[in-house]
Amino acid sequence: MLVAYTEKNEPFVLNSSMPQTTLYQLRKSKKFYCPLCKQQLLFKIGSLKIPHFAHYSKSSCEAQFSDRESEMHLKGKEQLYSLFNALKLEAQLEPYLPSIQQRPDILFKLKGNDDQRIAVEFQCSPISLEKLLERNNGYKREGISPIWIPSTPNKIVKKGIQRISLNKNYQQFREVTHPSYIMTYNPAVRQFFYISNLIYLHGNSFISKVQTISLTNQKFPFYIPKPITKNEFEQFWLIYQQVKHNYLQARVLFRRSGVNDILLRSAYELRMNLHSLPKYIGIPLKGSEELKVFSVDWQLALFYFIHTNKIELCHMKGQTIYYFLKWARMPETKIAYEVVSNYCTFLEKTSIQHSYQSIQDDKLLAILYNQFLAM
Ligand SMILES: [Zn+2]
Repeated sequence: MLVAYTEKNEPFVLNSSMPQTTLYQLRKSKKFYCPLCKQQLLFKIGSLKIPHFAHYSKSSCEAQFSDRESEMHLKGKEQLYSLFNALKLEAQLEPYLPSIQQRPDILFKLKGNDDQRIAVEFQCSPISLEKLLERNNGYKREGISPIWIPSTPNKIVKKGIQRISLNKNYQQFREVTHPSYIMTYNPAVRQFFYISNLIYLHGNSFISKVQTISLTNQKFPFYIPKPITKNEFEQFWLIYQQVKHNYLQARVLFRRSGVNDILLRSAYELRMNLHSLPKYIGIPLKGSEELKVFSVDWQLALFYFIHTNKIELCHMKGQTIYYFLKWARMPETKIAYEVVSNYCTFLEKTSIQHSYQSIQDDKLLAILYNQFLAM
């Protein structure tokens, strides 16, 4: 915690830029209390973490708000608080909201609209989607808009178009924030890292354009990433092709138990070479993470499905798509349906009916880029 009450019941906000001597003086001369449970607090001045308050022993407070804060959380909270102060927004650090029993990291009012309050949660530890939605509901009841800022994943250290790994915990922030990007913050370098324009590969793997903005350059409302250019999309496409190539190579080398491997089976039945698949088999599509497998797996399987069931591509609609999902052992959900349906529409647009047809690179790229912009 960075806020405590003094003996005079006045809130006291710790600031890591205070000189050490002042801090020691304060600790000697004053007593500090928890704003919530009113117990006396430890005033921690050490070399490991920035100065902060903590409970002496396990208290109910600790269980509720997790007192064992990481250095990253303390630092980030302090830095974000300083940002809102610099932007002249009326910000409060760690305010307790008794009506909903929640304590956001920061709460501030919108300029010129005192009724509109915004809660900021700097999330450094994993949080379940249920917990996240529960806290959002609490804020909603109070008429507060929440903004979640997860800490930047460790492995993301530079900006630019790159392959990244994003675990489920990060992926779920897309559901409660913006579907097209995740705004994260790294207190160690005082920078926001925007993970934008996500294209799903497989597993937890994505391609993303990572954009950065320093704490001092950030504004409120927060910076919104710009759409990517055609040129940038070509870089995405190059990485995508490379990953697809490596993936297929590995799949041929380390084949799974024969008949169960739908990719190898499809290629065999369609008399196709996995190393020279047409480019429209294995393309990125919006929402394809729902299918949990790499695009090339299910898209090749679709061609095998229509071949073996003697269905025309133009008849891949409605219940037939659900049959395909079931047959390919993929989730039979509405989103999965949409993804497959969009792929069929794409093939229709490009007049592809059979897997032996080819397509011009420019044409494919233009369609994919337009689709990508719409995401
Ligand atoms: Zn307490």
